[in-house]
Amino acid sequence: MDLARQLKAHLEALRAAGVEFVPVGERLVFARPAPEPRAGSSRSIPMAAEPAAAPDSPDSRRRELTVLAQSITSCNRCPELFSTRTQTVFGVGPIDPAICFVGEAPGADEDAKGEPFVGRAGQLLDKIIAACGFARQDVYICNTIKCRPPNNRTPSPAERDSCRDYFDRQIALVRPQYIVCLGATAAQNVLGTTQGINRLRGSMHRFGDIPVLCTFHPAYLLRDETKKKECWDDMKLLLKVMGRPIPGAK
Ligand code: URA
Repeated sequence: MDLARQLKAHLEALRAAGVEFVPVGERLVFARPAPEPRAGSSRSIPMAAEPAAAPDSPDSRRRELTVLAQSITSCNRCPELFSTRTQTVFGVGPIDPAICFVGEAPGADEDAKGEPFVGRAGQLLDKIIAACGFARQDVYICNTIKCRPPNNRTPSPAERDSCRDYFDRQIALVRPQYIVCLGATAAQNVLGTTQGINRLRGSMHRFGDIPVLCTFHPAYLLRDETKKKECWDDMKLLLKVMGRPIPGAK
């Protein structure tokens, strides 16, 4: 990849992670430490120039998330994914969302755009989100694996393990109230199980202290439309657990 393409991919990944402004041609200026008070000085309590954001605050978590997204743009833990991807695909959406939707790994459209679920499966996901009474911008969307596997093959166990700490940190910073796993691979990666999707759907699970629902992957629903009703049953279960109204229910 030439330098211009690498830079473009890097900037697109930053934009997908929520960075809308990058200073150009500016020197970074670091605050000088406050001078030590002189002996006898009445100003004995150093004053911070600006109150620092609490380490746990949404602002500081958002900043850390941006740094994490940026740091993985050069990840080379998986040699094949590193050499075949256009760019890493981190995640989009707000901090502290009601729901985080988690897929398996980016496909071709996502690899090209740097944003998860932007192809045909993503359009169906947007409809599922809307049917639940949310907009795409209200929820967080990511994948367990941050690079596209060639020809959309299932990520290997080694690739899954290599990406694990990125995903764990991402969820710890985003702090969703609920997680929805889309498809068997995402569900197995998140829950650390080998159970199939038919066993996992229909009841709630946990990722740490976050309640997790598993349902079919939208790409599977595009191939077998008869499964859409079961997916809607899953989403209704989630809405019930969340204490939210079920659109269309009498
Ligand atoms: N399928 C996934 O699992 N994730 C995407 O981002 C797109 C398609």
